Amino acid sequence: MFTWPSDHPRLIGSRCKNCGNHMFPVQSGCPRCTGTDTEAVELESRGTLWTWTVQGFPPKSPPYAGNDDPKTFEAFGVGYVELPGQVKVESRLTEADPAKLKIGMEMELVIVPLTTDDNGDEIVTFAFAPVA
Ligand SMILES: [Zn+2]
Repeated sequence: MFTWPSDHPRLIGSRCKNCGNHMFPVQSGCPRCTGTDTEAVELESRGTLWTWTVQGFPPKSPPYAGNDDPKTFEAFGVGYVELPGQVKVESRLTEADPAKLKIGMEMELVIVPLTTDDNGDEIVTFAFAPVA
């Protein structure tokens, strides 16, 4: 879903060769023109915050793979980040303080630790962080 490991991680989406529509995650068919000729592309790593909310309780697991213990769960932001000329990406945000999130602010892709699996290996996920 993203290039990793990498110093400059990028989300991998797809682009419709017929109409130029971008999709994330990768899709084999284009919802705009119903074309099936798509290619994988690396998406922009910066975009603007389109809308957001704060997830204050553990999401349903599965598919949620992070900490779902209500006692130790930490709230996190979720939102849509609009990548210029491409697509709106639903993503976890690194910031959960409503005072620090503003629609239209510039956001940058980061890779953050999510949890560790049963083997003790770290699971990472992508998130967007406000550009300082
Ligand atoms: Zn298309």
